[in-house]
Amino acid sequence: MKLHGLLDVIFPAQCAACGALGDGLCARCVTVDGPCARRELATLQVRALGPYDGALRRAVLALKDGRRDVAAALAARLAPWLEPGMLLVPVRTTPARRRVRGFDGVELLARTAASRCGARVLPALEPRVRDAQRGRSGAQRRAARDRFACDATLVAGCEVTLVDDVCTTGSTLEDCAAALRAAGARVSQALVIAVANGGA
Ligand SMILES: [Zn+2]
Repeated sequence: MKLHGLLDVIFPAQCAACGALGDGLCARCVTVDGPCARRELATLQVRALGPYDGALRRAVLALKDGRRDVAAALAARLAPWLEPGMLLVPVRTTPARRRVRGFDGVELLARTAASRCGARVLPALEPRVRDAQRGRSGAQRRAARDRFACDATLVAGCEVTLVDDVCTTGSTLEDCAAALRAAGARVSQALVIAVANGGA
């Protein structure tokens, strides 16, 4: 039995929102095959399971905490939006945070959803260290795509779809899209768990 299989026995899946046993997110808290929320950014169409509050907010926080059962439950809700052959690019967190948690929540979400329907995940984006942004003027920050490095060998010439946990202003998704386009990819859609209002 693999380690996370063993952990599933010791810590059975539990709804991140209400605590019910059996699934990382129960169907009462967030419906499966429910309606989606949409947001239009400058160059991207964003599709979300719903607004960033209540059960979805708790699910996102549990995913950030490293809950694999929640990743699986969210993946089951994103999977109906995917098609065989789709190429998903997760908006990954920094390598330092990945080491702390043991895995990247958004990448696991994308991989689990993709595995359910014949889509594929291309881990082409790598965030650059945020501190590099500190102390820069607005003019220096204008090259927003510098926030992410993109492996062009993975995505050049491909039509890809971004996957992230939360879309707030959309600036992270747009920065990712800019990095992907600079690497020769086409991208017009992002799938996220929740859309939030305001903030950064
Ligand atoms: Zn629940």
